[in-house]
Amino acid sequence: SKAKLFDEKTDVKTSFKDVAGLEGAKEEVQEIVDFLKQPEKYTSLGGKIPKGALLVGPPGTGKTLLAKAVAGEAKVPFFSLSGSDFVEMFVGVGASRVRDLFKQAKDKSPAIIFIDEIDAIGRARGKNNFSGSNDERENTLNQLLTEMDGFGTNTNVIVLAATNRADVLDKALMRAGRFDRQIYVDLPDVRERKEIFEVHLRPIKKDDNLDTDFLSKQTPGFSGADIANVCNEAALIAARNGKKSVGKQDFLDAVDRIVGGLEKKNKIMT
Ligand code: ATP
Repeated sequence: SKAKLFDEKTDVKTSFKDVAGLEGAKEEVQEIVDFLKQPEKYTSLGGKIPKGALLVGPPGTGKTLLAKAVAGEAKVPFFSLSGSDFVEMFVGVGASRVRDLFKQAKDKSPAIIFIDEIDAIGRARGKNNFSGSNDERENTLNQLLTEMDGFGTNTNVIVLAATNRADVLDKALMRAGRFDRQIYVDLPDVRERKEIFEVHLRPIKKDDNLDTDFLSKQTPGFSGADIANVCNEAALIAARNGKKSVGKQDFLDAVDRIVGGLEKKNKIMT
């Protein structure tokens, strides 16, 4: 059978309530939600609705989560595809995959298209890359540019793309009418980490006196994904020790374990 070309999700349940911190980014994407919900309100005065925005920031900070929340808030389908998947793709499939994706999204518009790790496709042309054939990648990138130029202002499909390397992207992607907006999604500060803990502690049976201020102070440099990991790991550690609820020491042990993992990962990368 034909390999799945991209992911399609209707009835997305993710909302802004699931995204902790990131106030500035949420404000910016709120505008995109409004465009999707009431396009006429904006186009009636002659304005053009943006076609794309780039979510820029370190790994695990909530870019995918935020994009999904836009679809959830606007109640539109969420089409997604990961640039890194192209590493494993057979030659000749990339461009047709992009064409298919846009066709489906247009048919079901209003809709969000999300391209994760767009740098795998969108690296400046003519530079080295590690994602298989260079021609293949360029064909895919060119198809993406063609699609974005091709849809009119009334198509009502907005493309969000995520990267942690905006500096390596082909400048053609950032031109007006393509990804001409950049939204920064940074690592959380101590206050934001507390909010992220609160989101991920919701499903966890925790000690009544668990102090989230303390936890957020113990986790400088942690991303939202790291914090989600800590909460889950703490629950597993507590369960392994036969506890009935998750306490401070379980979280500290989980932090230790995650820090150990992060250190290893950094060693491999350098
Ligand atoms: P990558 O660049 O690695 O793809 P990303 O920025 O897209 O990462 P997500 O995949 O959105 O990050 O985050 C992974 C998980 O981490 C989320 O599903 C969520 O559980 C948690 N998370 C990250 N950021 C936040 C946040 N701001 N609020 C709540 N949860 C978060």
